[in-house]
Amino acid sequence: MQTRRNEISRHPLVIRGYVGGRFTDASPTEEIAVIDPATEQRVATLYESSAEEVDRAVIAARTAFDRGPWGRATVAERQKALLAIHDAILAHAEELAFLETINTGIPLSQTRNVHIPRAAYNFRFFAEYINQAGGEVFTQEPGLMSLVTYEPIGVCALIGPWNMPLGLTAMKIAGALAFGNACVVKPSELTPLTVTRLFEIIEGILPEGVMNLVNGRGPVTGTALVSHPGIDMVSFTGGTVTGSAILASLAKGIKGSAMELGGKSANIVFADADFDQALDAALMSSFMNNGQMCLAGSRIFIERKIAERFIDAFSRRVGALKIGDPLQEGTEIGPMINSAQRERMARYAESGLSEGATLLCGGHRFSGLATGYYFEPTAMLAPSNDVAICREEIFGPFAAIQVFDEEDEVIAKANESDFGLVGYVWTQDLQRSMRAASALRTGTVLVNTPIIRDLRTGFGGYKQSGLGREGAKGSQAMFTEMKTTIIARAPRTLPRMGAGA
Ligand code: NAD
Repeated sequence: MQTRRNEISRHPLVIRGYVGGRFTDASPTEEIAVIDPATEQRVATLYESSAEEVDRAVIAARTAFDRGPWGRATVAERQKALLAIHDAILAHAEELAFLETINTGIPLSQTRNVHIPRAAYNFRFFAEYINQAGGEVFTQEPGLMSLVTYEPIGVCALIGPWNMPLGLTAMKIAGALAFGNACVVKPSELTPLTVTRLFEIIEGILPEGVMNLVNGRGPVTGTALVSHPGIDMVSFTGGTVTGSAILASLAKGIKGSAMELGGKSANIVFADADFDQALDAALMSSFMNNGQMCLAGSRIFIERKIAERFIDAFSRRVGALKIGDPLQEGTEIGPMINSAQRERMARYAESGLSEGATLLCGGHRFSGLATGYYFEPTAMLAPSNDVAICREEIFGPFAAIQVFDEEDEVIAKANESDFGLVGYVWTQDLQRSMRAASALRTGTVLVNTPIIRDLRTGFGGYKQSGLGREGAKGSQAMFTEMKTTIIARAPRTLPRMGAGA
């Protein structure tokens, strides 16, 4: 793998758009370096899609949807294509995991065991789901039959983030295609490698123009895409500020959207919890994926009776996390995505100290490696829920711990947040877990389990964590228009207007 990495840094890959069934060859208006965050070397040159290329991609999708075979494809035909994409991903799993790791800095063990299998599973899940998903029929009104059916929405703009590039973007692509749409995909300009490779390995599976790719920065390519009159909806995963800007742009055209945004999820550990499980899970929820997870449970609340023991054990384990080259076996924490993200970690560590938090471990740029955007996994004990480290999404290996005494108090604090993505609860008391689950203002509550996404259920956020849900029915709502058809089953008794007395 090191050999392959060296080769790529000597001959960086070229990232181009994919429009109407082929990679584009237009001369680039802008070239952007795509960097391996562990080596700080260029691994690819991204040719940014201009507004003109975006226009061509949307027209290709529009044409494929309005006039091509995909909009009329049977469920069996769509299933066949989705399963072929699933198989293609698995057939290239090792290569995709490698590309994801050299592009994101996320340890290979995680891209190999979580990201890539999940990307493939998304396609299988939706292939199976559409065989069962249907509409509704109402016959309560005598003489009438009311049918509710779900039709493809049209052309979907699918915009992904950099923290799980293929896994999260594949979720959108699989959902959009399953329900019969065409799409234009825009991965993050920081992490385009695996999504581009996906387009290569599925060549020939879909009719041309059904799936298109544009690459580039948000204010250039992203803005051109979301403001294009030819798209019917935007499914976006990314930051809350970006989501809000996209929503403002969509308002002009009254376009639909689904927004999977940021989080600051509370992880509540009651004294009766299974201590070892809660500890393992707190580490995982804060430091998996280099801590760069929307559903990170890194705002940790510990009940006072076990606080000292828990904080000691947690700090020791954080201090022992293995930082290193993400391609290397055994690495638990790789580099941050870029130097800006590393500086952001440092700023939060400083802001924590200036607002009265205690540094338990980490807090500095990692100096053990000559290259790479590494930051020490960090834990701080916060003086209150009001400080920035407990309020703002940090998006890195950074846990903020608070101590609590009462159930009502901790639920209120957990809900004191602009976000509402996930709530984690650790307790052996069934009734308390049920009370907490209903009191937490979050799209998902996880009881006695760390991060898990079950595609049969909806995933999404309350408050500023988003709009809409991804997963089975949620994706159906996102990627379809609901149509009502009402049919008279017998002649109706109608007022005879204008027919005289
Ligand atoms: P980001 O908002 O900076 O970028 C996301 C995508 O939007 C990128 O492709 C970017 O190029 C594009 N973009 C930026 N400005 C745009 C604009 N004006 N118009 C159109 N597109 C634009 O987010 P990020 O830094 O890539 O990802 C991190 C964020 O994503 C975090 O806040 C994280 O919580 C969130 N996230 C949420 C979920 C979820 O399911 N809720 C999952 C993963 C990440």
